[in-house]
Amino acid sequence: MATIGFIGLGNMGGPMAANLAKAGHQVRVFDLVPAALEAAQQVGCEAAESATAAAKGAEFVITMLPADAHVHGVYLGEQGLYQVVNKDCLAIDCSTISAEMARKVASELNAHGIAFIDAPVSGGVAGAQAGTLSFMCGGNEADVERARPLLQQMGKNIFRAGDSGAGQVAKMCNNMLLSVLMVGTSEALQLGVAHGLDPQVLSQIMLQSSGRNWTLEVYNPCPGVMDNSPASRGYSGGFMVDLMSKDLGLAQRAAVASGASTPMGALTHNLYRAWSQLGHGKEDFSSIFNYLKPQTK
Ligand code: NAD
Repeated sequence: MATIGFIGLGNMGGPMAANLAKAGHQVRVFDLVPAALEAAQQVGCEAAESATAAAKGAEFVITMLPADAHVHGVYLGEQGLYQVVNKDCLAIDCSTISAEMARKVASELNAHGIAFIDAPVSGGVAGAQAGTLSFMCGGNEADVERARPLLQQMGKNIFRAGDSGAGQVAKMCNNMLLSVLMVGTSEALQLGVAHGLDPQVLSQIMLQSSGRNWTLEVYNPCPGVMDNSPASRGYSGGFMVDLMSKDLGLAQRAAVASGASTPMGALTHNLYRAWSQLGHGKEDFSSIFNYLKPQTK
């Protein structure tokens, strides 16, 4: 069993750390929010006073943080983990950040003799709780293989997309597609409801027809259609609009840099930014369903 320092215990990191503790690892955790630390203690993790205290002496460090600046700050900032981790420690960042930042953190940590892979995830909070996440890794093969047994205790599909940063590229592409599916599913449901259909019935029909997609399968955006979806609990406890907006911004910047054409990604980015500006940034991203409500004539 391994000693693991786990930093970032939000909607995703909390249940991921819990699964590692359940598997018998010694998991020392840290988050800026005291309530998140207390919740982790209740599921078998050890609370640390700081990120450096959690990481010191660990064989693996796992981070699950919001965005680029948090990841760079935790590893390489003033109190950066690079100062305390063992030289044989493998750092695994599961946050969704830019591929450029993943490569920068990897090369700066490598310069200190510390191995690092990017390993962003897909599967949502339900996947994190059930231990069924998909991991998309970027890094050398030996490091990804070293991480694999741990990742398998939090997920069921572990992919190596390529070298450093490749996991983040795969994740950015996946989330851009997810946003398009979520907006498309939401507008189809709103159109059906506006014409008198029961959203439950329409969802069942589309699930068995050519419109079938992941959002209909496990993440229906219409309240009441699925018992355990964020939509049915007031769009709480899922994947925030602001985080989706961040991911779509990463995809748009990458599209500009490479000359790729991503008109649908540009459209959903603008929709999510506008929805955030209307005050919905902290809601689950399926709340875009409400933005697409028909206007009363
Ligand atoms: P979250 O906001 O719920 O959690 C982030 C946590 O990081 C918070 O608890 C915060 O207090 C903590 N944190 C921030 N700075 C810190 C620091 N310096 N030291 C310690 N802790 C710090 O976000 P989340 O939904 O758990 O998402 C985390 C990452 O995973 C994001 O990059 C997101 O894009 C990605 N992601 C989320 C989902 C999802 O469904 N929620 C799915 C896949 C990927």
